[in-house]
Amino acid sequence: EEALALLAERQVDVVITDIMLPGMDGLELTDVIKKDYNIDVIVLTGYSGDYSYEEAISKGASDLVFKPVRFEELLLRLKRVLKERKLTNERLQMLEKLKKLSITDGLTQLYNSRHFYNQLKGEVDRSTRYSHPLTLLILDIDHFKDYNDRYGHLEGDKVLLRLGQVVKLLLRKMDSAYRYGGEEFTVILPETDYEEALTVAQRIRKAIKEIVFMPEPGQNASITISIGMTAYSPPEDLATFIQRADKALYRSKEGGRDRVSTLLAQAQVQAGPGKP
Ligand code: GH3
Ligand code: MG
Ligand code: MG
Repeated sequence: EEALALLAERQVDVVITDIMLPGMDGLELTDVIKKDYNIDVIVLTGYSGDYSYEEAISKGASDLVFKPVRFEELLLRLKRVLKERKLTNERLQMLEKLKKLSITDGLTQLYNSRHFYNQLKGEVDRSTRYSHPLTLLILDIDHFKDYNDRYGHLEGDKVLLRLGQVVKLLLRKMDSAYRYGGEEFTVILPETDYEEALTVAQRIRKAIKEIVFMPEPGQNASITISIGMTAYSPPEDLATFIQRADKALYRSKEGGRDRVSTLLAQAQVQAGPGKP
């Protein structure tokens, strides 16, 4: 019990415990520690007949040592446990890094399109289950080919990077931004009806327009974006939902660019404004 109280307030790597203890025994303690902490446990026992190696290991112990224990032996076993611990932690960190890489767009550091589909699927399910509103924005840079042609692809890349940063800054915690394609971005806004989403979209559009780029010395440049927005209308599938946002984007392009267009599903139009 004292050990558990200590663990709650200290960073501990390894616990060495006897099995026979007053109150909770060493195997129970191991059980509790392994459930609540990332800590290795070495179990000591004087009764080689009563407790098996398998029993201790199955509780999550990293090693079982029979008493009387020589200090040198315990030290060696402790070193081995620490070494394995280090390797395990490194492997976990590496996995974490790979996981992050696999969902991140290398240029903008936003999430990539693979992650977009996964997340949107999850949000659509949630929105359907709880009848919460869900909106989607698709952003596309206006005449970006011209920008590239004029200033070069590298300068174009800087625009994409900056745009990603600005969009990210303007979003709330629950919202997420993705690089959907070359110069197209998506934003998922959970728990957000289309009127609130419109405010977010306009804020993004204006902020992007304000950025001053300097693609050549002494040469200022700016870009505009067009945005298409729609709200999820259950029980439609993902493709229908995304296509409608795409159509809304197309309307913004047709309408003269640098604007936000909203396109709702038929059922939503009939429900009237304010309804999800
Ligand atoms: P619109 O207003 O109709 O969207 O015109 P646009 O020129 O932006 O559209 P279009 O789809 O014709 O061209 C998209 C351009 O985006 C083509 C390419 O030059 C540029 N682009 C796409 N991906 C990248 C990228 O990763 N880096 C850079 N620098 N440019 C890219
Ligand atoms: Mg495009
Ligand atoms: Mg474009």
